[in-house]
Amino acid sequence: MIRVRYAPSPTGTLHIGGARTALFNYLFARHHHGQFVLRVEDTDRARLVPGSEEGMVAGLRSLGINWDEGPDIGGEFGPYRVSERVLRHQQAVKRLLDQGLAYRCYCTPEELEQERKRLESQKLPPRYSGKCRLRPPNDPIFQSDEPFVVRMKVPSKGETVVNDLIRGRVVFENRILDDFVLQKSDGTPVYNFAVVLDDHDMAITHVIRGEEHLSNTPKQILIYEALNLPVPQFAHLPMILAPDHTKLSKRHGATSVEEYREQGILPEALVNYLLLLGWSASDDTEIMTLDQAIEWFDLNRVQHTAAIYDIKKLVWMNSQYMRTIPIGTLIDYVLPFIKSRQLDVSRGPDLARAIELGRERSHTLLELREALTFFYERPRSFDEQGVKKHFADEKTPERLRALAQSLKKLRVWDHDHLVAVYDEEAKQLGIKRAALIHPTRLAVTGKTVGPGLFELLEVLGQEETVARLLDAATAITEQHVKPTP
Ligand code: GLU
Repeated sequence: MIRVRYAPSPTGTLHIGGARTALFNYLFARHHHGQFVLRVEDTDRARLVPGSEEGMVAGLRSLGINWDEGPDIGGEFGPYRVSERVLRHQQAVKRLLDQGLAYRCYCTPEELEQERKRLESQKLPPRYSGKCRLRPPNDPIFQSDEPFVVRMKVPSKGETVVNDLIRGRVVFENRILDDFVLQKSDGTPVYNFAVVLDDHDMAITHVIRGEEHLSNTPKQILIYEALNLPVPQFAHLPMILAPDHTKLSKRHGATSVEEYREQGILPEALVNYLLLLGWSASDDTEIMTLDQAIEWFDLNRVQHTAAIYDIKKLVWMNSQYMRTIPIGTLIDYVLPFIKSRQLDVSRGPDLARAIELGRERSHTLLELREALTFFYERPRSFDEQGVKKHFADEKTPERLRALAQSLKKLRVWDHDHLVAVYDEEAKQLGIKRAALIHPTRLAVTGKTVGPGLFELLEVLGQEETVARLLDAATAITEQHVKPTP
């Protein structure tokens, strides 16, 4: 049975890199009818952020990613918070000490710092001297109460090979690995040690994680070997870089799932976009459901080179979803945005109809909210450029009033009847239909762009259209609105 895990540290929000790792693990598990575990790596107490775990759980769920075992739902391999597994880690450290595969190190932070500086001044890489490794077993310090860390006895020769499912064979010389720390002086395990035991104890078969962990993997393999445990398979996902090929950071815009939600990106679009950050379908299909992704997902199609994160593509992807997701779902997504703007949609046209029109031209939920606003609020002002262009003719108020009169009499308020009124009016005035359409749009929406005029009037309704045309005519004659010279 294939078992994979996503193991975030609850030290902040759910970053897109983390969400991508979770997604690939989830897809891999579902594709192989395996199991997906969520494990919270909360050993570094100093970096814990309250609420972070809850935020990550909510963020993953919002993307449609779910797990079979985890801190929130339990499971037979629990507990799923690493801080609750420390006893087991300490037992294993003891085993390594007893077998002489690890040793206690009493070097003080000051001594280590001095050593680091000395190496630095000689332009050598930092590495532990091995001082405590060389102490004789009868050294009195071993009987003392001095604080100590536990270090791994790393073989000074040979190499450790990571057979990565994505990157192939990656060789690390043991010489450069150093006698790394397994357990801190407060008795808690370091990540590299805890992760080995937790992955083993949770029967994890494949460790799929970001490339930034590749340099940890040889250390973890040495620990597996020292503890005589089977080594799982590893797959390191390519880095996600900004378009300028630098590390993705705040200055490149939103980087957390939460921020994307606030910016009006649909979870379906985000998850689809994340999928393409390092993976592609064999026929290069880009837009797909999670179910399709589960069917097609294959680690062989994960690229080795960095994935470039492109916000424009994400927004494009979002606009595709905006057009196609079921209207009920879109309503659910846009309602919180409508609420936060205090837009009262209980009066005015049917929301679903307004959304059907608005969604065509909206890239995000924020844009959709903007596109809905005029249906529920009369324009408070008119676009300045539009006024210059479409309200400049002195006959405008009179034409708007004439239109209002004709529209008031209309028996059937639909697209075709509206077209007929405008055609007739234009003919009588001896002007082009466009010369009526543009001022009407500006009068009823305050804007110069938007959905097709007749479609929008149909949704806005007869009474409201007539009232707005008359309001605009009054505003123009009373000179509230006049083109600036
Ligand atoms: N807690 C580690 C992280 O957040 C997990 C690394 C791993 O998957 O082994 O990066």
